[in-house]
Amino acid sequence: MRMAALAFFLTLIYSLTGCASAPLRFDGTHAYQKYVLDQMDLGARPAGSAADRATGDYIIAQLNASKWNVTTQEFTYHGVAVRNVIGKIAEGRGPIIILGAHYDTRARADQDKTHPDQPVPGADDGASGVAVLLELARTLDVSKLKNEVWLAFFDAEDDGELSGCIVAPGPACDSASWQWSVGATYVAEHLPTKPTAVIVVDMIGYTDQKIYYEQNSDAALQQQLWSIAAQLGYAAQFIPQYKWSMEDDHTPFLQRGIRAVDMIDFDYPYWHTIQDTADKLSGASLERVGRVLQTWLESQ
Ligand SMILES: [Zn+2]
Repeated sequence: MRMAALAFFLTLIYSLTGCASAPLRFDGTHAYQKYVLDQMDLGARPAGSAADRATGDYIIAQLNASKWNVTTQEFTYHGVAVRNVIGKIAEGRGPIIILGAHYDTRARADQDKTHPDQPVPGADDGASGVAVLLELARTLDVSKLKNEVWLAFFDAEDDGELSGCIVAPGPACDSASWQWSVGATYVAEHLPTKPTAVIVVDMIGYTDQKIYYEQNSDAALQQQLWSIAAQLGYAAQFIPQYKWSMEDDHTPFLQRGIRAVDMIDFDYPYWHTIQDTADKLSGASLERVGRVLQTWLESQ
């Protein structure tokens, strides 16, 4: 009775003062128009480049604007400066959930038959995942979270199997081939506690979106996410069948016994070509992924 009366007065106060504003919803148009296009304006963003550094600075500024606590991890890999950016919220509320995306772009478009020496612009392969995480930072209802949530922006994912002198040419360059997921590996190696789940989003913005189960990902967690997608009406884009087997930023977490999923649309014809540009992406695709993640996070 007392609680009911209190609730009534609180409702009255909120409605009089306008505090009970409607919760924000993930907006794919905003994710595309702002976060994808702002990243594309920086040009190609390979690890160690000025544009990569500027992308990290941009991510930090957006996280700060959305009131997330920001930490960075800086280290050197084969002589190249690498920086992960991690936004944290609801710290200490519960076990950690990490949502991750890489923000660097591949130094060479080696799948491009005519321009294999040019850098990948990285609209889908880079900007799309970052845009989803930044829009989540803006719109998540933190009051509904029961976990500490990290948004991890990994550097140096996408130069795997390229020579160091291709990635970062110069007098002191190291010709050793680069590993994939250098930034994510560093995060996985420096965790304070074992997270309860890690979800990586990569290449999820294609207009003709089809996201299948990934072979190495945690099966139960994948099922949960795809069933939320079906409930939201996205069954045509989230297809609960196995297709690709990926080595990606989820791999270093899986290797340490952590539940991890790679949400990736690998049926992307422009992968690692110079045609990976913003016109191939749609806000609707970003929104489907964002709303699945938002619904999942807020219901944990
Ligand atoms: Zn890639």
